[in-house]
Amino acid sequence: MNQEVVAKQSLSTDLHQALAHDEFRLHYQPVVDLASGVVVGLEALLRWQHPTQGLLAPSRFIPLAEETGLIVPIGEWVLASACAQWRAWAKAGIEAPPLAINLSARQFRDSRLVGIITRVLEESGMPPDHLILEITESMVVGNIDTTIETLRALQAIGLRIAMDDFGTGYSSLSYLKRLPVSILKIDQSFVRDITTDASDAAVVVAVIALAHSLHMTVIAEGVETEEQYLLLRNQGCDQCQGYYFSKPLPPTEVVTRFAGIR
Ligand code: C2E
Ligand code: MG
Ligand code: MG
Repeated sequence: MNQEVVAKQSLSTDLHQALAHDEFRLHYQPVVDLASGVVVGLEALLRWQHPTQGLLAPSRFIPLAEETGLIVPIGEWVLASACAQWRAWAKAGIEAPPLAINLSARQFRDSRLVGIITRVLEESGMPPDHLILEITESMVVGNIDTTIETLRALQAIGLRIAMDDFGTGYSSLSYLKRLPVSILKIDQSFVRDITTDASDAAVVVAVIALAHSLHMTVIAEGVETEEQYLLLRNQGCDQCQGYYFSKPLPPTEVVTRFAGIR
């Protein structure tokens, strides 16, 4: 118990310095169109190159960053870094697909969010229609009217909103139909057993139909096998991402994936 507390405190101290020491990295996972096999998007996923513990996944430090409030400046770094990367690709003559970034609850509630995004887009010169913001169901519960207002303001900039991890949170359908969300991402926990569990397959099929009837694009997350890929394609799912196509990769490696496929 005591050791755990000490380890957490030490990680927290390190996290406070990580931005200044330039220790964060973004990896990018291709999002593939199921009908054509073309890479139509890239999701930016945060990594921390810890000075002694190696490359850390978000589950190791995002909860701590949320707790301490550091997620706000870190989230701003993610946004700026992804936009700068898109711009660098464009300068090198590489036409990258739209980039998706994950927002945290605290960032989403921050009244400066719309201003920050507007400024970063302007400074980077990245077209707003090439940015997708991923939010989760838990972020929208509470004040639905404020949420809608924020999402509308973000949409007015020209970017798109995706509902991430759909099905794992509160999944209020009355909220969903009111929110200006254009992409629905089905959580991996539903996709994992679709080829063996009839109820999981039924849920996924129903979510695809629901999303389409609300004029949303559906992305299946965590697709690992050809069987899953084929089932999703047959059921009319629009896009997918997962290890079957590619793990999240550093920018230099991902470029060969999407440039090669295109
Ligand atoms: P997410 O946004 O739902 O991202 C998908 C996660 O699934 C990623 O984990 C990805 O590496 C993993 N994944 C992708 N395909 C497969 C697959 O085929 N099989 C399996 N088993 N896993 C797969 P990762 O990178 O560890 O990120 C975990 C979560 O951390 C993300 O879930 C997201 O909620 C959060 N996160 C990542 N980057 C950021 C960030 O920049 N800001 C914030 N606020 N949260 C972030
Ligand atoms: Mg995501
Ligand atoms: Mg997800």
